[in-house]
Amino acid sequence: MHIENEVKLDFKDVLIRPKRSTLSSRSNVDLIRPFTLRNSRVEYSGVPIIAANMDTTGTFEMAEALGKYDLSVALHKHYSEDEYVTYFNGLKRKSTAFYSMGITDNDLKKFKAVMERAPGAIEYLCIDVANGYTEIFVDFVSKIREEFPHLAIMAGNVVTGDMTEELILAGADIVKVGIGPGSVCTTRKMTGVGYPQLSAIIECADAAHGLGGLICSDGGCTRPGDIAKAFGGGADFVMLGGMLAGHNESGGEVIEKDGKVYRSFYGMSSKSAMDKYSGGVAKYRAAEGKTVYLEDRGPVADTVQEILGGVRSACTYVGARRLKELTKRTTFVRVTQQLNEVFG
Ligand code: 5GP
Repeated sequence: MHIENEVKLDFKDVLIRPKRSTLSSRSNVDLIRPFTLRNSRVEYSGVPIIAANMDTTGTFEMAEALGKYDLSVALHKHYSEDEYVTYFNGLKRKSTAFYSMGITDNDLKKFKAVMERAPGAIEYLCIDVANGYTEIFVDFVSKIREEFPHLAIMAGNVVTGDMTEELILAGADIVKVGIGPGSVCTTRKMTGVGYPQLSAIIECADAAHGLGGLICSDGGCTRPGDIAKAFGGGADFVMLGGMLAGHNESGGEVIEKDGKVYRSFYGMSSKSAMDKYSGGVAKYRAAEGKTVYLEDRGPVADTVQEILGGVRSACTYVGARRLKELTKRTTFVRVTQQLNEVFG
């Protein structure tokens, strides 16, 4: 047994220190980031915020709505082959939507079929498993990289620099970082495994950037300030589940109670998801996600504007004219209190 004594940080443990700046207005801040991806050489350009590949947030409707603001969506893997083909063939312009897959034989078969039937339409692929630390996962990423040299690959999830490097060397362009921080994730409760998200970002970004790779912080953002902190810590992309759930464009069950409309939101390893897609929770495992009902939040566009407004304002506070400069201009101060909660 070994104990690491260095304190690791979460979003709630820090604030961003303001800095002198020549910026006069937040409208001057540019949130678009261009990247040339390390392995595929794909040229990405957009606001690097991605809706999570959960069936409640990674929907075609979400992709359409977020596309208007240059945000991306990782489409969930439970769409059928035909649905994927129809969607990608119907796109009028190049899209940064990620096709998502796990690493089973069926996932691979479906992916290859879609690639064949929608030639050239898919540029971004997300390969993700709950635990990105297994050899079969790394081998799978290498295999896909070999077969599809020009496809942008995001792979995860991991939370440490060693594994970030390994995935990039195996062919990933973007490493997805986060184990256990998600709003409907119960991994930490069920397994005791995890890593404070801000430290995971800082350490994995350092490892990735050293090799010319990128990272996507996945999970744990509960408000726009957390997204600013994720970017400030070095995340190139930020993935959001809970913050984009509960909207018109989100999937999930809609129920009415006492005259109010609620939408379900659940972890992809929750009992709800396993009942829906795998015929229940298999005997050898336990659910590692939960189900919540969120009051309907209307069109996602309003939330997006709030998020982008918050991140732009964070940039203004530290004098970052472009999102790219935010990390360089970020000094985190460790705090014991984040917010004044007097009015709840
Ligand atoms: P959020 O933005 O809601 O805090 O986090 C979203 C992320 O939570 C997803 O992108 C995914 O990585 C993770 N996640 C989604 N469903 C589950 C689940 O059932 N279990 C666990 N452990 N993580 C989940």
